[in-house]
Amino acid sequence: MTSRDAKEALGKFTRRQLMELDTCAHCALCTEYCPVYMETEEPGHAPGVRSSKAVKLYDKQHGLRARILGPRPVTDEEVEELSDSAFNCTFCGRCMEVCPFGIQTHELWSKVREVVHDLEGTPRNVGMLEEMLDESQNPYGLDPDSRLDWADFTDLEEIPEKDKAEVAYFVGCTTAFKGANHEVAFATASILNMLGEDWTLLGEDEWCCGSPLLLAGDEHSAKEYAKHNVEVLESRGVKRLITGCSGCYRVFKWEYPKLLGGDLKFEVLHTLEYLLEKLESGELKPEKTDERVIYHDPCELSRLGGLIDEPRKVLAYLANDWVEFAEHGIDVRCCGGGGLLQASNNEARLAIAKKRLDEAKSLGAEIITSACPSCKLTFVDSAREHEVDIEVLDLVELVAKQLGIL
Ligand code: SF4
Ligand code: SF4
Repeated sequence: MTSRDAKEALGKFTRRQLMELDTCAHCALCTEYCPVYMETEEPGHAPGVRSSKAVKLYDKQHGLRARILGPRPVTDEEVEELSDSAFNCTFCGRCMEVCPFGIQTHELWSKVREVVHDLEGTPRNVGMLEEMLDESQNPYGLDPDSRLDWADFTDLEEIPEKDKAEVAYFVGCTTAFKGANHEVAFATASILNMLGEDWTLLGEDEWCCGSPLLLAGDEHSAKEYAKHNVEVLESRGVKRLITGCSGCYRVFKWEYPKLLGGDLKFEVLHTLEYLLEKLESGELKPEKTDERVIYHDPCELSRLGGLIDEPRKVLAYLANDWVEFAEHGIDVRCCGGGGLLQASNNEARLAIAKKRLDEAKSLGAEIITSACPSCKLTFVDSAREHEVDIEVLDLVELVAKQLGIL
């Protein structure tokens, strides 16, 4: 990396972000809310320390001294330290919620990752994920042909792949390619069939939504993915896009308009919004379970996506007995599955999830439910690793189960 490249990379912070980096008082108020720091207790993983590291590198290239005497080189060790801090973060946004100065940490950490990407400091596993996306348009490196294999595994009888349809079900990579989530796709597809919707899957034309690319700091490629997915959906005349993935939902709803510079021509719904509509209209009539259920808010759906009341309204149709975590809704504690933590620190990911599972058990929950395939996968992996006995179901699986179709 030349000093010119380093200068350009570190020059990517916006004015607002530079002010925020300067404003961060390192008060550490956010530290005890950070699920990763609370797990690893590594000083470098504290959000305020990340700000200091970023400022230090920025100053070396753009600070007053650099402007008078010339920039100083950024060492590999410094880039590695910033990278370790930036990638030990689930992007849960909780630090943003508690920061007394209103620092928009979610956008700030995103920019830090972009800078690390440009400084060629991306962790090896995350870099491999980018390579797999390049080859197969999904972060698991699996053959794009197998994107609909979940339908075979689940014996789904009607698999619509239409040229034109009102509704498209955007399955998302973590649902399509991870066995733990195949029944999530099956439940969604079965409910759409049961309701007689004019709907379609996108099959091989569905590419990753681009969320992992944004999390890896590669906005340029994410834009290509956004462009592709939107073109495919528009060419099929889709009016409503339904997705059960909180990451896909947030990216379609909030990031695509920014990446593409305009509003989308179709409505973006999370599956649970669609389910609530059908429950309230009486088109879906599930039986209620007597098992005790607890709902975990996916960070990207609640704190970052604004869907807090909706899942609870859905749950009221499904369970006679449901309880809340102490930290829920906008204050939810992350499951550990966000921000590509699986690639950068899987041990921390599983340990963070265990705390959540233990709390669910202590509250007497028999079923833990969420509305995101990453949360489900993380809970399933952690329950297996740490031998916690609890049923993990996505909300749409619970709906299908109570309708008697799962
Ligand atoms: S709470 Fe805000 S000001 Fe305090 S350390 Fe965290 S980000 Fe910085
Ligand atoms: S976004 Fe979440 S994991 Fe990342 S620094 Fe903030 S609180 Fe910690």
